Amino acid sequence: MSAEKSHFPIDIGEDRYWRLRLISWWNQDVLRAASIMVVGAGALGNEIIKNLALLGAGTVIIVDFDRVELSNLSRSPLFRAQDEGKPKAQVAASAAEALNPDCRFIGLEADVTRDIGLGIFRRVDVVIGGLDNREARLAINRACWKVGTPWVDGAVDDTRGIVRSFVPPDTPCYECTLGEQDRKIMAWRESCGILAAQAHIQDRTPTTPTMASIIAGIQVHEAVKLLHSRSCLQTPGQRLSPTLVGKAFYFDATTYDCFIIDYVRNEDCMSHELFENIVETQLNSESATLAEVADLATRYVGANPVIGLPSEMVKSLKCNRCGSTQPFYRLAHSIRAEEARCPDCGAERLPEVDVEYMRGAPYEDITLKELGFGQLEILPAVSQRGCVQIEISSDAKSVLPGS
Ligand SMILES: [Zn+2]
Ligand SMILES: [Zn+2]
Repeated sequence: MSAEKSHFPIDIGEDRYWRLRLISWWNQDVLRAASIMVVGAGALGNEIIKNLALLGAGTVIIVDFDRVELSNLSRSPLFRAQDEGKPKAQVAASAAEALNPDCRFIGLEADVTRDIGLGIFRRVDVVIGGLDNREARLAINRACWKVGTPWVDGAVDDTRGIVRSFVPPDTPCYECTLGEQDRKIMAWRESCGILAAQAHIQDRTPTTPTMASIIAGIQVHEAVKLLHSRSCLQTPGQRLSPTLVGKAFYFDATTYDCFIIDYVRNEDCMSHELFENIVETQLNSESATLAEVADLATRYVGANPVIGLPSEMVKSLKCNRCGSTQPFYRLAHSIRAEEARCPDCGAERLPEVDVEYMRGAPYEDITLKELGFGQLEILPAVSQRGCVQIEISSDAKSVLPGS
């Protein structure tokens, strides 16, 4: 700035977000107040997180279980060579915070299919997916639906990309968009039990930074519209251009064609369950047990509630080759493939499982953490008198400090 200018400071509100405020429909306060979860810190996730930092998003939770590899550097503006081997979520969070210290970034080294409880989904305004597999998309979709959180999906390969958004409870959801073949593949993977949870780790989609930035740009633009659309509802006369809710934006980089398709809601879809009676509690997963959850639920729905579990509860593992049986109290989706093998002969052991929990089960005094529950989980309880969903709310202090 010239010396002459500095003698005449004119306050025109020219801060970091000034150019954004010039946009007629823009409300920077909506961005500042927003909590957003980004699942996946790969090629798409890097671009999504970068955009959210530039836009001044309030709180951004970044979820990824992977570590930075040198091959990520061609598509990940938030990673540096010296980050090799470090958790992607944490590296992305600190790089994004350096881009814009106004925002709060929380990096969680976690697998969205088992470590991220519904209470985390419930505490964000929108979820943005930067994923490369159906299982994680389906997990996000079901979680978002239960707690009423909109989500924006994106997918890319080297020449094609797609963006779509889903807003519970009334629009088509991600599972509604799946074809018969997709459902068959997923049912087969689910039937593979313990190994299914690990299967998606192998997925590797080829893409370029250009495709990732195009599709991530549209995803974040859509998320910004969704955030604004809620505040527009409260401001009569303010109108926003259409969103991608219930639709898909397709882009083909070989021809530069892009088009919109409409999805149809499937009323028989398995993903439309809603949790409408969530109760916050003082419980935390490091000390709470299923017995305590059941006793608490009894206050709301009467005696003998049946507690739903995020995956099957393994009670024992049996080796058919050497005939040994070992008690093993853990949620199936938290068991690693090597743990399921017989320590004596190496054969894959067969689990005996519960699909629900009721008072009296042998694992009911083991803590939720030891049983493999995620953080800030919400457990549904049903009895003849009704239903309630018990949130393990005190986990918020450690997972989302300051929230
Ligand atoms: Zn659906
Ligand atoms: Zn054996």
